[in-house]
Amino acid sequence: MMRRFLERAGEFLFPTRAVCLGCGDPSGLEADWLCDRCRAKLKPGVHAVSSVEWTEDGVSQAWFALYYENPAAPLIRQFKYNGVYRLALFFLDCMRPLIPVLRAERFDCVAPVPLHRKRLRERGFNQAELIASLIARELGIPLSTAVKRTRNTRRQAKLPPGERRRNVVGAFLCERPFDGLRVLLVDDVFTTGSTANNCAAAIRDAGAADVQALTIAASRRYRRQNGAVYRKKPAPEPPKS
Ligand SMILES: [Zn+2]
Repeated sequence: MMRRFLERAGEFLFPTRAVCLGCGDPSGLEADWLCDRCRAKLKPGVHAVSSVEWTEDGVSQAWFALYYENPAAPLIRQFKYNGVYRLALFFLDCMRPLIPVLRAERFDCVAPVPLHRKRLRERGFNQAELIASLIARELGIPLSTAVKRTRNTRRQAKLPPGERRRNVVGAFLCERPFDGLRVLLVDDVFTTGSTANNCAAAIRDAGAADVQALTIAASRRYRRQNGAVYRKKPAPEPPKS
């Protein structure tokens, strides 16, 4: 019985065939992360939201490709917590339709939401920085890592929405000025917006003219952005020609 258990555990940890990272179906294709059923459910799109609930010094707009639900949610967790960093290229494919809409000329640089150095040591890589560097390359604009996390905050995912904001207030600092720059701030998931908005506040404090967020996925609540929960802010200024 023990042997059987070990074999099973071994199979789970070092699968000999591709397991679907969305639903765990072991018949997933070798070349893909998702089975056909999950792949059909994924539906990447070009989404943009803004909200009057966000602080004035936060992001003016948040862009994303997927909703944080199955199968995107388990994929992102594998990427973030289990070190499946090759998923970055998969997510880039999902986000690629956003590139011509975002337009390189509307931004001066791409900046990832930083991890605290202690968290970075534990995790080995910053998932946001990995995505940000790919996006910067696609847009053909520089990547800035001047934003630092000065406090090792608790994991936002473990906190109720009310505490998330308090958890990240004053957690970010810029090492260099962002004078007049329009910054595309990249993270993996946009939930309440607390992390992105606090990070954006630090970037604006450092002189940035505008900060917009780009994430792989956003909370399902943004589906209701035209309803009672999310009222739109006035659209950001049109790009200078
Ligand atoms: Zn699946």
